[in-house]
Amino acid sequence: MSAYTWINESLQTIKKANWYRSTQTINGGSGAVVVLEGESCINFASNDYLGLAGDERLITAAVNAVKEFGTGSTGSRLLTGQRSLHQQLERAIASLKQTQDAIVFSSGYLANIGAITALVGKRDLVLSDQYNHSSLKNGAILSGANITEYPHCNTEVLKNQLHSQRKNYRRCLIITDSVFSMDGDLCPLPELLDLAEEFNCMLLVDEAHGTGVLGKNGAGCVEHFGCTGRELIQMGTLSKALGSLGGYITGSATLIDYLRNRAPSWIYTTALSPADTASALTAIEIVSSEPQRRMQLWHNVEYLRELLQKHLPELKILPSSSPILCFQLANAADALKAGKRLKDAGVFAPAIRPPTVPTSRIRITLMATHENVHIEKLVEVLCSLATK
Ligand SMILES: *Cc1c(COP(=O)(O)O)cnc(C)c1O
Repeated sequence: MSAYTWINESLQTIKKANWYRSTQTINGGSGAVVVLEGESCINFASNDYLGLAGDERLITAAVNAVKEFGTGSTGSRLLTGQRSLHQQLERAIASLKQTQDAIVFSSGYLANIGAITALVGKRDLVLSDQYNHSSLKNGAILSGANITEYPHCNTEVLKNQLHSQRKNYRRCLIITDSVFSMDGDLCPLPELLDLAEEFNCMLLVDEAHGTGVLGKNGAGCVEHFGCTGRELIQMGTLSKALGSLGGYITGSATLIDYLRNRAPSWIYTTALSPADTASALTAIEIVSSEPQRRMQLWHNVEYLRELLQKHLPELKILPSSSPILCFQLANAADALKAGKRLKDAGVFAPAIRPPTVPTSRIRITLMATHENVHIEKLVEVLCSLATK
């Protein structure tokens, strides 16, 4: 028995529970159709909502940035890492979100960790939606603040928690996904903002799946709910609808200035690479100048819903107001089986299981670049699974 024997035992336990995960490789470019482990399949698993990850303009921007600035940014933003591109990108994000300033991190995960640990500590309270993304949850844990979860989107319970607990703490931060990443529903943002004001709390909304997708200008859930300009902290990623890599926080100039001084995952890490920065900047320009991409995405969501309603009315779709649609299944084994059958039929729509989510499901994400035939094929395969 070595000190490492337990690792293999632990893996066996994970396998027995059907919780084991492994990677699979996509060959070639990203898009609505991809080659997965050598097999061509229609891609309903991507976060590339607008199809920008393979866009020629983003590719050109990245290539040009590499030629001009090199491959690495060579240091943290406070030392040798900053290029004019970073500031251009931050201004573009702030302009899209209509906030005073923005700060880009090397990933969305790091943005959440950095912001939350900078904003709260031992004497403070974090109130967190139970379905929040791992980066919000771990940011809260790392901050050392006292954490209370509230039931998913339940503002009544949240209000009671604020009533009983708020007075015991110095600062309070409410954290929530705007579009819940594994469910597809939206947080009750106007109510959360009202509660935050009433109880003198900060509110951080994670727009990872909202930016570029929701709102007339693609500014996200905040715009969708008409809450643009209200005081809050918005987080987002450059890695989903924006087709690049990185994350950001946007809000007041004071907030951003504070984070530049206090967010460890920004200060002590290497600045975003020139290629990622340039492609994200180009993506934001496209989000603003080509609303037709967003319209096509929503058109595709409507088309899928229509077909499902017509051909599979009994299917249990979880509540969703986004391009993320999930079908609940009884357990992890069933979800895995359904995911495998879809894949065998040329449709990539993965099973999502605990511990990522409380209940097993198939998760489908739509893209602006899906064609009607792709969506029809998905429904056809789902129908054939239902009758088996
Ligand atoms: C993907 C995601 C993140 C992390 O963003 P990355 O840029 O991929 O690190 C954070 N929050 C939510 C809700 C996400 O879906």
